[in-house]
Amino acid sequence: LPASGYIGRFAPTPSGPLHLGSLVAALGSWLDARAAGGHWLLRIEDIDPPRCPPGAIDQIYRQLEAFGLEWDGEIRHQSDRGAAYQAALDRLVADRMAYPCGCSRREWQQHGHYPGWCRHGSRHPERAQAWRLRTDKGIQPVCWQDRLFGSQCLDPTAQGDVVLKRKDGLWAYQLAVVVDDAAQGITDIVRGFDLLDNTPWQRQLQVALNYPEPRYLHLPLVLGEDGQKLSKQNLATAIPHDEAPARPVLHQALQLLGQAPPAALRQAEVTSQLAHALAHWSPETMVATPGRRHD
Ligand code: GLU
Repeated sequence: LPASGYIGRFAPTPSGPLHLGSLVAALGSWLDARAAGGHWLLRIEDIDPPRCPPGAIDQIYRQLEAFGLEWDGEIRHQSDRGAAYQAALDRLVADRMAYPCGCSRREWQQHGHYPGWCRHGSRHPERAQAWRLRTDKGIQPVCWQDRLFGSQCLDPTAQGDVVLKRKDGLWAYQLAVVVDDAAQGITDIVRGFDLLDNTPWQRQLQVALNYPEPRYLHLPLVLGEDGQKLSKQNLATAIPHDEAPARPVLHQALQLLGQAPPAALRQAEVTSQLAHALAHWSPETMVATPGRRHD
């Protein structure tokens, strides 16, 4: 454990190379960890192999290196962690916090979210079963103090009994992220605003599994010209994987994080830009908005 007691992480899904939006999440969590004298871990969230093209993970390493974002310790891959996720699911099932469900999306989608039909027994035991969280048995409402968005109180039952393990046997994000954040001793979660409304499920799981509560800092998303979150779907361009072209992109990412990097540093080496940004890191100067456009 670092003397500061702070352990942060960046946890990309390797569905493609990093784009400006994922860079902002990486940079925000790196700055917050380093400014606190903390560790910064890298975890590859490769639980859904069909969505992860070969080569994407190596591209992510090269991109982080080009931007000077060095991580501590071993890289963890979620594809190695099935036994830990199964052990957590077994505990939830034993505590009746998780249940099998064979309903198909087509059957419930008119309700907006899954209405919990199988809470007291699977309606279709003959089908393949997914495993779902009993949001009605977990803590509710879920309240926490987000470091940027302030006091949050959300009711997870309003979002439905989320899937923890899929019918096809693949692990779902909500369970994997909670198990690994606890296993790695993560104290501070810094990530995009798109995950703020996943936090209630994750808090329910942490409480059910007796894990400590991390601090949360959600960051405004980077939006494209269309006002949508940057993603592979809207063909967000990959950021550079060499240091020289990374410089102006790093400068832009710092601006998107509400920092005020001096214009004179726009072409400066990434190490100088990072040193300046670390000395001036102030997440509270960010505007608490779900997203900001970049140009
Ligand atoms: N793997 C998730 C993503 O790439 C992020 C997980 C997290 O930060 O909680 O969107």
